[in-house]
Formats: sequence, structure tokens, C-alpha cells
Amino acid sequence: MQKVIVLATHNPHKLQEARAILSPIGFEVLGGNDCHLPDVEETGLTFEDNAKLKAVAGFKALGKPVMADDSGICIEALDGMPGVYSARYATKHGGYPAVFDVLNKELGDNPNRNAHYTCVIALAVSETEVYTFTGNMYGTLAHFPSGTGGFGYDPIFIPEGMETTLGHIPAEIKNKISHRSKALKQVYDFLKTHGENIFGENQ
Ligand code: IMP
Repeated sequence: MQKVIVLATHNPHKLQEARAILSPIGFEVLGGNDCHLPDVEETGLTFEDNAKLKAVAGFKALGKPVMADDSGICIEALDGMPGVYSARYATKHGGYPAVFDVLNKELGDNPNRNAHYTCVIALAVSETEVYTFTGNMYGTLAHFPSGTGGFGYDPIFIPEGMETTLGHIPAEIKNKISHRSKALKQVYDFLKTHGENIFGENQ
């Protein structure tokens, strides 16, 4: 029997990725728009806090299991900034690509341009029982943006083992190596093992 799981997002790309990974094990993934979920302010100090906040708020609103994610880019030489503030940092500095210049100035001639994207997915199966899954994608920051693919910081992010920014990398390839897909694959493993127990009584 098809089991329904909600992903608290209005982002169609995230929804599509979650559907591609979870539908083979019998999950129908509904988005925030399908369920009229309220927007939740990201007041947490960590990705985990924010993902949990959103998942628990979703569970409280719907009374059924809800997943939510939080993600961002962490720059080693800037003590992990902008991290959970990635979207707000870009907005504050004039959006993309203006924020890339700001980061370059912040880094100056520091040779350490290591960075990683992190994604934490929280799955709330009750108001107090929340599981979290973390995925990272490591790489370095380019000196200049290049490529038009992806979104956000992708035009300046060169994944480990690649020679070009994510701006030049097709979505199908990014989706195989991304922080988000790594976290989703852990959700897949978890649901494959525990899905019947958690969802059996909820459907
Ligand atoms: P959120 O998880 O949708 O709130 O994303 C937070 C922010 O982190 C985005 O607005 C981007 O600035 C950044 N970010 C997260 N994941 C990615 C990615 O895959 N590519 C580029 N930027 C990302």
C-alpha cells in the first residue's frame, strides 16, 4: 500500500528529488502546498534546529509524519559562515551574484577556500520523536562565478574531484552527489527498515 509522507517545502526541485528517491519504496511525497502548511521562521542556530522546528511544526499542524530540511554553505576560513544564514547572507549583500564579490573580499588572499554544503532532514513522527539525517558535499570556492546551472552559491562552488563549478554541472549529476541527495538516501534507508512500523498505523 502507498504510504504518504509530507515534505514541508514549497520548493518544487526539492520535492521532485524526494519523490525520485522515496517513491521506489512505496512513498507518495506531498509538499507544503499540497497540505497548506504554515511557514515557519528559521530561528535555530544550527541546520538541525531549523529542520526540527519545521518538521515538528508540520506534525503539529497535520497530525502525521512530516519531513523538513535546512541547508546552506559553510566556508572553512570564515568559521563555517554563512551556514544557516546562507539565504539571508545573500539577501543582505544584494543577492546573487553580488554576494560572491563580498565573499571574495572576506576571504582576501587566504589560500584556504575549502567549503561544504550541508543538508539536514528532520523527520517528525510525533511532537517529540524526531529523527535527523545529514548530508555534506565538500569542495572549494572558485575566484569567479561561472555557469548558469543550479541556484544559490552553485556558480562559485567546485565539488571535490571536479574541475568546474556546479554552474556547469547538469542537475542529474548534481543530484547524485549533493548534500540533499545524501541526506535523502539516509531517509530512504531509514524508511526501508522502519517505514512499516511508523507509517503502518498512520495510513
Ligand atoms: P534552504 O535550505 O532552502 O533554506 O536553503 C538555504 C540556502 O542555502 C539557499 O537559499 C542557498 O543560498 C544555500 N543552498 C542550499 N543548498 C544549496 C545548493 O544546492 N546550491 C546552492 N545554494 C544552496
